[in-house]
Amino acid sequence: MSESPYWNPKTETMPRKDLRALQLAKLRRVAEWAERSLHYREKFAAADFSAERLETWEDLRRIPFLTREEWMAGQAARPPYGTLPVRDHESAIRLHTTSGTSGKEPLRALDSRKDWAWAAEMWCYGAWAMGVRPRDVAYMAFGYGSFIGFWGLHYGLEKLGALVVPGGAQPTERRVKQIVDFGATVVASTPTYALRLAQEAAGQGIDLPGSSVRTLILSGEPAGSIPETKALIEQQWGAKAYDTAGMTEISTIFMFECAHRPGGAHIIEDHVIEEVIDPETGEPVGYGEMGERVVTSFGRSTTPLLRYRTADMVVKVPASRCGCGRTFDIYQGGVLGRADDMRLVRGTNVYPRAIESIVRSHPEIDEFQILLTREDIRDEIHLLCELHDQQRAAADWQRLAETLHKELADAHEGLNFRVELAEPGGLPRFELKAKRMVDDRPGHQGRGKA
Ligand SMILES: [Zn+2]
Repeated sequence: MSESPYWNPKTETMPRKDLRALQLAKLRRVAEWAERSLHYREKFAAADFSAERLETWEDLRRIPFLTREEWMAGQAARPPYGTLPVRDHESAIRLHTTSGTSGKEPLRALDSRKDWAWAAEMWCYGAWAMGVRPRDVAYMAFGYGSFIGFWGLHYGLEKLGALVVPGGAQPTERRVKQIVDFGATVVASTPTYALRLAQEAAGQGIDLPGSSVRTLILSGEPAGSIPETKALIEQQWGAKAYDTAGMTEISTIFMFECAHRPGGAHIIEDHVIEEVIDPETGEPVGYGEMGERVVTSFGRSTTPLLRYRTADMVVKVPASRCGCGRTFDIYQGGVLGRADDMRLVRGTNVYPRAIESIVRSHPEIDEFQILLTREDIRDEIHLLCELHDQQRAAADWQRLAETLHKELADAHEGLNFRVELAEPGGLPRFELKAKRMVDDRPGHQGRGKA
């Protein structure tokens, strides 16, 4: 018997009409359940909404949005877990927090045993679609800190039956050695860290493309869906790289790239409802239009999540774009950035993603940083680059700097970037959630996400 390409063929290929009906039934259940939470009880009452009045798909829009600010306000009012959980922590088995690296107070989310089993199940959809099977050896190249994503993948891979090797808190050099020694066939890391592992391997004279690694599972940064970054990772590893994304607020994963790689990632629609709205008006936008992700999760029973405004910018396209047979819609290009990532420099919009796609088309660049400064009254934007081989700097760097300068200007209405060479090892290195945009202009928020 040939093996199914789907982890759950019934839901992954369900006709969309049936999928909608399933989502509506689950939505009603989760909204009823959420009425046990202080937050939702108050919000529903204020909006004159009750779960029993949820009858049609359109009624979804009568559920009030949940914002990060409300979540944080609840935590401040009722520490330590806030007003969202329906029960106290005694029924929970896990607490995860956001990293707090963007300068914001971390938010806290409780999960029960059932919630956590659900997270593992969702990861199985993704890992199976990438071709991961029980015979695989999967190396988890992350430090097992508070970052929820790879914790979820760890349990998902165990559920799938793969052999899981926790990379844990070890130096990069040691992790590379273990990947080779244990014959890992699958490696999980952030896109940035995948590049760093490859560089470390090259330094040790290890031939990664000649190793047994054939699949990279990327998460934690939107860069996993930037074609130039992904191409660079695949070239350095000689393996296929797949994008996924999740967030602490919804548990660990909501989309995955399948083996057909349609230029985007499938939304796991039997476990979440993903709406795309105009961030200004809150009104839904259609297929192909950019908007903000709003998520409702069916698997977070301890910390229910209904219509959460993520600030992630996405473009949804129909499932039929992909030839894999799944009926789950697709986020084209993955998560395209955060609403708060955008910077205005002398009247031009600047997105870290657009800059990264230019930088990563030049493999001689190792690390980079986007620095915004103000000189007198004038904003300046700098691109600081660190090269792999600093010896080559003088002549080749001049040529590369001129090319970058032109490519950046062409992509930004002629904006003049100051392209500068950084000292070897001078730029920060990241294992999780790289932050390459530094805004030093007076009155700006400082370090944004990138
Ligand atoms: Zn597909």
